[in-house]
Amino acid sequence: MATKYIFVTGGVTSSLGKGIICSSLGRLLAARGLRVTIQKLDPYINVDPGTMNPYEHGEVYVTDDGAETDLDLGHYERFLNIKTSQTNNVTTGRIYYDVIMKERRGAYLGKTVQVIPHITDEIKSHVLKLGESNDYDVVITEIGGTVGDIESLPYIEAMRQLRYEVGRKNTLSIHLTLVPYLAAAGELKTKPTQHSVKTLSESGLSPDILVCRSEYQLDDSIRAKIAQFCNVEVQDVIASLDAETIYEVPLLMQNEGLDSRVIEKLDLPAKNADLKQWSEFVDKIKRPSKQVYIALVGKYVEHHDAYKSIVEALIHGGAMNDAGVNIKWVQSDYITDSNVASKLEGVSGILVAPGFGGRGIEGKLTAVKHARLNNIPFFGICLGMQCAVIEFARNVASMEAANSTEFDEQTPYPVIDLMPDQRDIEDKGGTMRLGKYACELKEDTKAREAYGADMIDERHRHRFELNNELREKLLESGLIVSGVNPERDLVEIVEIDNHPWFVGVQFHPELRSTVYDPHPLFSAFIEASLNKASDLFTSETKVEQAV
Ligand code: GLN
Repeated sequence: MATKYIFVTGGVTSSLGKGIICSSLGRLLAARGLRVTIQKLDPYINVDPGTMNPYEHGEVYVTDDGAETDLDLGHYERFLNIKTSQTNNVTTGRIYYDVIMKERRGAYLGKTVQVIPHITDEIKSHVLKLGESNDYDVVITEIGGTVGDIESLPYIEAMRQLRYEVGRKNTLSIHLTLVPYLAAAGELKTKPTQHSVKTLSESGLSPDILVCRSEYQLDDSIRAKIAQFCNVEVQDVIASLDAETIYEVPLLMQNEGLDSRVIEKLDLPAKNADLKQWSEFVDKIKRPSKQVYIALVGKYVEHHDAYKSIVEALIHGGAMNDAGVNIKWVQSDYITDSNVASKLEGVSGILVAPGFGGRGIEGKLTAVKHARLNNIPFFGICLGMQCAVIEFARNVASMEAANSTEFDEQTPYPVIDLMPDQRDIEDKGGTMRLGKYACELKEDTKAREAYGADMIDERHRHRFELNNELREKLLESGLIVSGVNPERDLVEIVEIDNHPWFVGVQFHPELRSTVYDPHPLFSAFIEASLNKASDLFTSETKVEQAV
């Protein structure tokens, strides 16, 4: 069967949740036995999001092959249980970079290099590359931005051309729009959708299916009106109402018949969808038997997208323990010795987040100390692990003023230091230790117990690491190194003894947690936090009884 290509565009406003719609459609098609992948085309000029501030872009999602990509790829992996790669995310910056490099090599044989055909050809080649691998029946391509943006035009044009090149019957255009409710008029309004479809059609790409985000159900007359004005059949107007959890969206889209319409239009050989496991997971999230409260300590907490995969991995870990996860967002800049107890009050687990630069570090160290001294389950991720090592060095191993050279180049105890192969690097883009690396786990440790394996691999994104010259001294004081990269003897996981659960990881386990394969460290962390909560509960009841 020829690979089928589905193009997903968005109109009216940004933030309509195109990534979730693509992921949900992907999930539904995969549940019908089709091999699906999803790709994101981003219209900005950065070569990748790796150099962007988390406030600007949210989390940078790292793939196994070390690509720094858009956070939507996280949704694709979590929903489809697949591994994506550099091929799944392309930006205008990369397209132009590659075209300019080719031009410098003389690859265009003296031609004038232009947006059409050279830029559009390059875009098309990135879309077709996934299909040509023969690994997929369906390639879903999400086009970032909003229809009508100048920067999206070459992408829309490339999709228009592709429809003819691979055949109309092998492609499908889905457009996501907004149907707003005007309180003053007491009505849902279809005009923005009409305009958006008109703009898209002017570029030569007319939608086959419209997915309409709305706060209220679209009744038959609204659906008929949208169909009439936008040149689609009425059953191709799909309503997408706000969901309680993003994981419910595939089920809502199935009820609306999105997958059936796609299958019919693309003439796909599909069986009935098997969504049993998925539905059970959604039930667990919606109706957990208990609740757990976790502090997420970071410096970008006003911007939750900066920690997208961590939040989702916590939810997965909660589902594994039949628990609803409530996150208390704690800004590390404002944590001090005197307010740490109140800032972290009521939580039974503390997660110290990844990050770059010195802002908020002392607050993170105070949070680590609070977790260590009060036997509160602690999970440190990347910078969070580095903070755990610094705190241990200062307060347990008597290394006064120990630090990471990222924050204090003159520290007498550089327990975290730049990796030797990072020393001469000047370029910022794509030069960290990125992607999948192996890690050997030590027997009788929390990590070994959680993974149930001796050898694992995880994804990385950092320049600094535990300084092996000070490792022995830290070990003498009781730090446990429970995971090591065998090739380069780099410390990947640290723990401490006499604590219910205190684990710091140099890698990013959150990037590997999916609905069908929740991450074992997150499950173990939530389990330990639930145990801590029930301890607290019993000691509180004991106190009450004593009174
Ligand atoms: N800034 C630290 C480093 O580069 C940690 C990075 C991170 O948390 N992803 O090593």
